[in-house]
Amino acid sequence: MVPLGRSVAGRPISAVELGNPRAGRRVLVVGCVHGDEPAGTAVADALAAGPGPAHADLWVVRSLNPDGMAAGTRGNAHGVDLNRNFPAGWRRIDAPGSVHYSGAKPLSEPESVYAARLVRRVRPTVGIWFHQHLAAVDGSEGPKEVERRFAADVGLPLRALTDHPGSATGWENTVARDSAFVVELPAGRLSPEAVRRYTEAVRRITGP
Ligand SMILES: [Zn+2]
Repeated sequence: MVPLGRSVAGRPISAVELGNPRAGRRVLVVGCVHGDEPAGTAVADALAAGPGPAHADLWVVRSLNPDGMAAGTRGNAHGVDLNRNFPAGWRRIDAPGSVHYSGAKPLSEPESVYAARLVRRVRPTVGIWFHQHLAAVDGSEGPKEVERRFAADVGLPLRALTDHPGSATGWENTVARDSAFVVELPAGRLSPEAVRRYTEAVRRITGP
């Protein structure tokens, strides 16, 4: 367990590193960014339970937004949409009180800062950021072949989704080229069978 810091309301945010820390393949999985889209935490939990991959360095963040999860809100405890708070293409969007509020400046929120630090530290070759609930794998940016295979493995369509200003994946892709993509899970909770399917799809990425 690697502590990353505390949320605005003081909840701990941490990462789990598994597998081979010296591997050239470095995979980051973020289970939840928007607090009202928490289904990916089940995949993160399953991955964090191990076993770790022999041929990859796997980093799992269960939730970047524990305050939003506790409150059932998209934003963090400041009401900021963390997925509009990263530096790449950032622009001010809306105002406090709006669900897509970008924050006053890039990385104004501690949760975004922790994610940015982790991305700089890990320099992922693949970064998977779970959202809900468009039920699609984003094929607009990131590693095309990995996205295509992941979508086929989990049974979601590959779709070019809008890359919003200040998104975490857009920024990760400026730091670690063509690494990051969004997986939009279906609405609701994942069934145990679906959790297994998504976990296996990540394991294929970290596999030999
Ligand atoms: Zn989302």
